[in-house]
Amino acid sequence: MTIAHPARNAFRVSFEFFPPKSPDMEHQLWETVQDLAGFEPDFVSVTYGAGGTTKAPTFNTVQRLIAESGLVTASHLTCVDADRAETHQVIDELAGLGVRHIVALRGDPSSGVGTAYVPHPDGYANAAELVAALKAIGGFEISVSAYPEKHPESTDVSADIEMLKRKADAGADRALTQFFFDNNVFEDYMEKVLAAGITIPVIPGIMPIQNLTQLKRFAGRCGSSVPAFLDERFAGYDDKPEDRAKVAADVAAEQMDDLMRRGTHEFHIYSMNRAPLVSAVLERLGRRPIEKAQAGAAA
Ligand code: FAD
Repeated sequence: MTIAHPARNAFRVSFEFFPPKSPDMEHQLWETVQDLAGFEPDFVSVTYGAGGTTKAPTFNTVQRLIAESGLVTASHLTCVDADRAETHQVIDELAGLGVRHIVALRGDPSSGVGTAYVPHPDGYANAAELVAALKAIGGFEISVSAYPEKHPESTDVSADIEMLKRKADAGADRALTQFFFDNNVFEDYMEKVLAAGITIPVIPGIMPIQNLTQLKRFAGRCGSSVPAFLDERFAGYDDKPEDRAKVAADVAAEQMDDLMRRGTHEFHIYSMNRAPLVSAVLERLGRRPIEKAQAGAAA
């Protein structure tokens, strides 16, 4: 299935990676980077474990991306459990690696998702404070999180929007959303965001579904709902990985196509460090990786 859309190729993408935990995963990540680079992302980003748990692997991945991929590379940064001096040390080190774009986050409570967040007494209490600190240092493009279905700790969506406004007012350049599957939810959220006077771009986070069962487990912790229509779309494909992959690509491409029809032309794709599904999604929307497009033109 290819979706014939007037705005095809007119959309922009960024990809999120996580630092690999083993040599095999590292190999897979670099194959993924090579495959996805052809789609010319605006930037790629590398997650950072709360409490600095992935500091070295995040740094290594960021460093290698900058040195070898030629892609604009953002590092995520959390401030949970760190005092200000420690956070500034990490920021200095990231700058030293050549990082000029930081996805600034508070991070999950170290006592576990769902437990009360206790800020470090000498640290930044939330992402808005971290953004202000980065802005004061200067020289960074700053992205932040946004939660169309609200953050699990928030009492309601308006509390989330209030925090997003604080982050935008502190100097964030854009927000990247938690993944969601119901575009009506995103549209309602964006109406409230605009009504609150937030003018930075809010870029939808798209999660192509590698495995619906695993996604359901993970989504609950993130505050993302998994609508029933997804059960229907994937029903009967448990033992048919090829058909399942096609459905997964269709679902994400349809979601992006619908968002484009509603006026969104920028997407942050959670790649899960795997290229085939992400490539299939983008190719369904008429985007071809640059080498293939050039080869096609030459043929
Ligand atoms: P904030 O923006 O500070 O707060 C998020 C929301 O939570 C606020 O809107 C507010 O309403 C509510 N809230 C915050 N504190 C409180 C409180 N004390 N009481 C009540 N409500 C409160 N996590 C990682 O560990 N590493 C990553 O690399 C990473 N990358 C992410 C990338 C994206 C695009 C997104 C959307 C999330 C990512 N996360 C990551 C998850 C994130 O760290 C968690 O959701 C964390 O719990 C909140 O961090 P934040 O920066 O969104 O917090």
